[in-house]
Amino acid sequence: MAGLACARRLHAAGRSFLLCEASDRIGGRVATDVCDGYRLDRGFQVLLTAYPEARRLLDYDALDLRRFYPGALVRHGGKWHRMADPFRHPVDGLRCAFNPIGSFADKLRVAWSRIGGFDFSRHDPGLTTLEALRADGFSAAMIERFFRPFLGGVFLENRLETTLRKLEFVMRYFARGDTAIPALGMAEIPRQLAALLPAAAIRLHTRVAAIVGQGVHLENGEVIAAKSVVIATEAGGAERLLGREDARVAFNSIACLYFTAPFAPVSEPILLLNGEGAGPINNLTVLSAVSPDYAPPGRHLISISVVDPEAAAAPDLEERVRHQLAGWFGADTRAWKLLRIDSISRAVPSQRVVSEKSPRIGKALYQCGDHCGIASLNTALASGTAAAEAFLDDFPRT
Ligand SMILES: Cc1cc2nc3c(=O)[nH]c(=O)nc-3n(C[C@H](O)[C@H](O)[C@H](O)COP(=O)(O)OP(=O)(O)OC[C@H]3O[C@@H](n4cnc5c(N)ncnc54)[C@H](O)[C@@H]3O)c2cc1C
Repeated sequence: MAGLACARRLHAAGRSFLLCEASDRIGGRVATDVCDGYRLDRGFQVLLTAYPEARRLLDYDALDLRRFYPGALVRHGGKWHRMADPFRHPVDGLRCAFNPIGSFADKLRVAWSRIGGFDFSRHDPGLTTLEALRADGFSAAMIERFFRPFLGGVFLENRLETTLRKLEFVMRYFARGDTAIPALGMAEIPRQLAALLPAAAIRLHTRVAAIVGQGVHLENGEVIAAKSVVIATEAGGAERLLGREDARVAFNSIACLYFTAPFAPVSEPILLLNGEGAGPINNLTVLSAVSPDYAPPGRHLISISVVDPEAAAAPDLEERVRHQLAGWFGADTRAWKLLRIDSISRAVPSQRVVSEKSPRIGKALYQCGDHCGIASLNTALASGTAAAEAFLDDFPRT
């Protein structure tokens, strides 16, 4: 995403470039595989429509975005409880005010924070999300039943050790817009960005082994001489390619299980959260209820995220998930067919602290990627544009 955004800006400025991609497709961590008529995103992933750089670069209408209900169903005490955005669904919001997913005061606090734009600046910026939620006065019930599974699914870690800056970032954009997926899968996003670029400027199956000066050394032995190089890999990639000391980046991981079923456990485009504090499932979505194109006619596609690393690595993960599903939706779930398990070990960089990185890392050398700020699609895109702008400033057309 960062490399594509950079390429887009360079192309718009009329500058030539070559995008070297190691794999067989563009999009990096944003990918969708079409398998037997199902569209399987590589890991459950969504676009927040309020992301400013995404709004600027993407044509949302052409993506045919399908929106989620602004809220969630939370499993607690053997029942499902609705949490709703009181500003977009006032009736549902009122109804959930007295449910056991936190106290009435918690719900008021969420509403109040939403009006204030989720501003956590009064807290020590070194706090983790868990510490910030506690400092904000949220009850243990609200944190355990709602925030832990909700934010765990967003951060891809449920200890809530992620910096409060990411908490602020995601809550702000959840509040300001919709949560959506393109009708035909998340890969439509990079596809749309790449469609505006000259095809010859993208080389797939082209892994870079090292960068020496402005020489780009490919794994196949070829050396490409460039005026300037932008490294748009995941965190730690630039250091590796430049032969600098390994940054030893920690990543959050996730396992995503895709099931197909003849019936859907819910017909709404809504996120289901595990607020019980037990069992491997963190969150579940019937993706075909969000976009029917995700499954063949008459079938349903269910995506399940397992965030806890121990649960995700368990050899009997499928069995444990099935056991939990049977408890939630009944024995009929035994008929659900597992389509695939995606185990993604380097999903997003762990961000206990986050620092904004400069695009300039050397002479005629730039970097971009989600690691340059609060890891997200928006940061990847914005950092790509920023790297291109830095190059354009440093090398104005003469
Ligand atoms: C399961 C999952 C769920 C997520 N959910 C969300 C979400 O809901 N919302 C959100 O905003 N973000 C989410 N993210 C994060 C988001 O997908 C990433 O932040 C973003 O896609 C990162 O883009 P990038 O361009 O920085 O890096 P990448 O996508 O990692 O791109 C780097 C590219 O560089 C290529 N490359 C690497 N090394 C070389 C080399 N040596 N030579 C040539 N090419 C190389 C790679 O193949 C890749 O294509 C999620 C991520 C995952 C995995």
